[in-house]
Amino acid sequence: MGDVIRLIVLLWSAAVVVVAAFFGMEKGHAILYPSVAILAILLSYGTYYGIALLTSLCRPPFPRCKTGKCAGVGYYRYLGTEGDLKKYQCECGVEYLLSRHGELKVVEQGKGVPFMCHSRFGRWRPCS
Ligand SMILES: [Zn+2]
Repeated sequence: MGDVIRLIVLLWSAAVVVVAAFFGMEKGHAILYPSVAILAILLSYGTYYGIALLTSLCRPPFPRCKTGKCAGVGYYRYLGTEGDLKKYQCECGVEYLLSRHGELKVVEQGKGVPFMCHSRFGRWRPCS
């Protein structure tokens, strides 16, 4: 999904530069117009990733728990690590595994079931 969007953005950017070059040639600014277009595209990329980075720094560390009773980091207790994953338990006694990539799994019958994932702009949403 993310790859498709990235491809569309890339093609769109290329199209903008080509169109800018075309108009630039018409007006005798074959270098200036596409350069400005590239600069504008880089700026919007920078803004996008800048915002993504900022929101990732201040996003909530934990979503509302599986039963909906615990909201926030204060309700989760750290139990230890399991390989690459960190194990937590909320006040309802439900256990969770948190990966470094921001995927939170619920432990059900000894297995990790995908529960919530971080979106790029910080909020938790159900894993697709
Ligand atoms: Zn809970």
